[in-house]
Amino acid sequence: MKQTHFLIGPYEAGEKRDLAAYRAAGGYASWERVRSEMSAESVREEVKAAGVRGRGGAGFPAGVKWGFVPQDTGKPVYLCCNADESEPGTFKDRMIIEFDPHRMIEGCLIACHAIGSKCGYIYVRREFDLGIEVTQAALAEARAAGLVGGDNGVELHIHVGAGAYICGEETSLLNSIEGKRPYPRNKPPFPAVEGLFGCPTIVNNVETLASVPLIIEKGADWFRSMGTDKDPGFRLYSVSGHVNDPKVVEVEIGATVNEVIELCGGVRDGHALKGVIVGGSSVPILLPDACDTPMDAESLREAGTFAGSSGFMVLDDSVCMVEALGNLLAFYTHESCGQCTPCREGIHWTDRVVARIEAGEGREGDLDLLLGLGDRILGKTVCALADGAVMPLQSYIRLYKGEFEAHITSQGCPMKGVSAGTEKAEAAV
Ligand code: SF4
Repeated sequence: MKQTHFLIGPYEAGEKRDLAAYRAAGGYASWERVRSEMSAESVREEVKAAGVRGRGGAGFPAGVKWGFVPQDTGKPVYLCCNADESEPGTFKDRMIIEFDPHRMIEGCLIACHAIGSKCGYIYVRREFDLGIEVTQAALAEARAAGLVGGDNGVELHIHVGAGAYICGEETSLLNSIEGKRPYPRNKPPFPAVEGLFGCPTIVNNVETLASVPLIIEKGADWFRSMGTDKDPGFRLYSVSGHVNDPKVVEVEIGATVNEVIELCGGVRDGHALKGVIVGGSSVPILLPDACDTPMDAESLREAGTFAGSSGFMVLDDSVCMVEALGNLLAFYTHESCGQCTPCREGIHWTDRVVARIEAGEGREGDLDLLLGLGDRILGKTVCALADGAVMPLQSYIRLYKGEFEAHITSQGCPMKGVSAGTEKAEAAV
């Protein structure tokens, strides 16, 4: 496992980079080169050859996605930088936004050039008060320096969300920018063909875009010298929960789950590992015996989970899994946009059944009821929010079945008195 410092440097040094500091570190050299020397196609090909996958959750290769934009529609083309990082346990984009906003802006400019766009939006999460302020200041600096806007330049705008988790879903984000209720849209059509204002649009995550100037500077072969063939490069992980030193870390892709825990000082002293959620709250959990799994997309899929948003949450033996699941389902119930019945009603009912198990009122058959409800929700909704609730629901019940059964048969949490569950479970999930 190799720790890297490409995106994380300013955060590690505690240095909030303004334009002068970013330029002193070589910043905007890639953008200058791209706009003066490189065709859109050559930029797309370089990023495609690098194979960088989206770091927001879906993990689709960015260069391939850019290639889906039709160039002959006569319509404007848009870029949207998804800075609405809201997945529980995920805070690595926030680190880039607050410490190195020009890297994100440079990535946006290069991406706009690559897809033939003259206009991009940076959609920032409403709760990121500091991030909004920092992004506004950085954009003003870049504009004053002639890097953004101007005649024949690329214009960038900041759009601040209103605090809904669902706006991190790419089509919901587009509706939000258009001033509409942020319901996710049915796909197809995909945004690359019919996105913002009905025009071709690419939505990329902050970390994905922040990696692009480095790929242009150092080349696709350099990027591919790290990680695996199908999932090259390096990646940020926001590590929280029961480790001794929670923080954001950056490692070559392929580091194991255990190696990332060790980078954060190991599991909290005096406790044993109970499980790890590696990709944000929406992915299935891994048991300790699966934590030697390398964290590339393929290996994680084989282990039964996903890289997701790399929100890496460590749960130790003080956590009550029923309580943790109840906490998670309450979140998804609250954040459902209500558009699809299986999500609006189904997640709500799973939340109520888990709440009664936790309250000591569980019934025989409740676990089968929950698993069956999950089967009837999974894959049957407009967006992935409902799947993001069902996948952890099913994995927690299947992997910690004895603990759930004990809650039903002993009419309450058998761990109460063993540990202070509530506070710790909420901190972890
Ligand atoms: Fe809305 Fe849930 Fe349907 Fe997504 S799955 S569109 S959040 S109701």
